[in-house]
Amino acid sequence: MMATAIGVELRRDQALLAVVDAQLGVIDQRRVLQPPTMQAILQGVAVLQQRARQPALALGLTATTAGDPAQDCSLFKVFEPGSCLAMAELHHGAWQGAGDLAMLAVGSDVWGAVVHNGQLRRPDPHAAHLPLDPLGPRCVCKNRGCLKSYVDATALRQLAQLGQMPLRAAPGVLRPAAEHRDWAGRGDRHDTRAAWLNQGLADHLAHGLHLLARAHGVQGTALAWPGMQPHGHLAQSVAVRLQALLPGAPPLRVSAWPDVALAHGAALQALADAA
Ligand SMILES: [Zn+2]
Repeated sequence: MMATAIGVELRRDQALLAVVDAQLGVIDQRRVLQPPTMQAILQGVAVLQQRARQPALALGLTATTAGDPAQDCSLFKVFEPGSCLAMAELHHGAWQGAGDLAMLAVGSDVWGAVVHNGQLRRPDPHAAHLPLDPLGPRCVCKNRGCLKSYVDATALRQLAQLGQMPLRAAPGVLRPAAEHRDWAGRGDRHDTRAAWLNQGLADHLAHGLHLLARAHGVQGTALAWPGMQPHGHLAQSVAVRLQALLPGAPPLRVSAWPDVALAHGAALQALADAA
């Protein structure tokens, strides 16, 4: 007997829908290629339900941008993006077999979550605003030197400008977190400027992961960054710093943030809740 749920990721200019089987992972998906309204999403859900061999047991939803408050999401269980990413990677992705993890998902914003014994425990609502430097840049939360203010899309654009290597990023439909995707491969092609800028980024990411791990009493760490490869320059730079900050800890786990991961994880969380 298969147990399936439908997960939805709301983005600024589109929505991504996935039918997820508890064992098999994503078995069908569909995009709504317009700024998503609840009506368009429910039409998409109806199409997926029709194509499926059995009705979905639950509907999960997550959003990477602040939603329209007028939208009625009451048909869906709503989950936080970081925990959705972690669910997808823990069950069917790069983090299978992980024990305890403090994880950061870095894209248009920063999200965090904690994993104990391979099971998602909870999202950490403070991850974006982990305090790295009291004299750092002013954050949207009015504090200074929060993690987010060093690694979000605005920070990456500033960093690229500083290094005189403009990002190719053209954010838009089909390419969310374009800045991060573009940045992910920099430093891998022996570009010394990119490699140098990566050192600063790696410092901030490792510092944030270390604070999160310490706050939750776990040793393992995981980082999701769109397009990031485990053996790429940035991931390796973060891993080296973490070895110094958390000696003896298991190696950093990396996720390239598969496009469907958030819809996938929202469905898994809805399934777990329905069980
Ligand atoms: Zn802040």
